[in-house]
Amino acid sequence: MTLAASRISPWAALTFDDGPDPLWTPRILKALDRLNVRATFFVIAPLALKHRQLVSVMLDAGHEVEFHCTEHVRHTHCSRREIEADTQEGLRALQNLGIEPRLWRPPWGIRAPWTQEVAEGLGLRLAFWSADTKDWQGDTATEMLGRIEPLLGPGSVVLMHDGLGPGARRTGCGETVALLEPLIACLHKLGCEPIPLRVALEARTIEA
Ligand SMILES: [Zn+2]
Repeated sequence: MTLAASRISPWAALTFDDGPDPLWTPRILKALDRLNVRATFFVIAPLALKHRQLVSVMLDAGHEVEFHCTEHVRHTHCSRREIEADTQEGLRALQNLGIEPRLWRPPWGIRAPWTQEVAEGLGLRLAFWSADTKDWQGDTATEMLGRIEPLLGPGSVVLMHDGLGPGARRTGCGETVALLEPLIACLHKLGCEPIPLRVALEARTIEA
C-alpha cells in the first residue's frame, strides 16, 4: 500500500481480524453504524459459521467479509499443502454463508514462500496493512491513536481486531471500540474517507 494508492478520492480502510466474536463484534458493528462507516472483516471461517447471524448483520450493513484463516497458524510453520487445505476449507465454509472472498489476510500477516501462489491459485489477493494499532496488546484508545496517527493518510489500511486471537494480551476489545470515533475523526481531518478495502482496491485497479 502506497500513499499514491488513491487518485480517485482519498480513502482509508478500517480492517478487523480474528472475529466474529459474539460479544465484541456487535459492539464494533454498532459503533461503525453510528459513525456511518463501512469496514472490512477478515474472519476466521469456523467462527463465521458459528456466528453466522453476525456475518449476516455485517453484510446487511454493507461491510465486507473476507478471509483470514480456518486454523490461526503461521504459514511458515506449515507445508504448502496444509495451507492450501486450510484455505480451501475456509473458503467452502464462507461460500456456504453466501460469501465469495477475494481478499486474504494470512494470520499475523506472515507469508511463507508459497503463500502468494496459493492465493493466486484460489483467486485471492493478499491484503496486509499500513497502520497497526496493536490493539491486542491492551493499550488504551488514546495510546493506539498516538501510535498510528503519523501513519494515517490517503490509502492507509488500519489493522484492528474484533476478537481475541491467539496471543492477545487483553481480556476484551473495548478499547478498539473506543478507538473508532477518534480514529475516523482523524481520517476525516486528513481528508480521507474510510471505505471497505476491496472496494478501494478494485476501484484503484480499474482506474489504473
Ligand atoms: Zn489473526
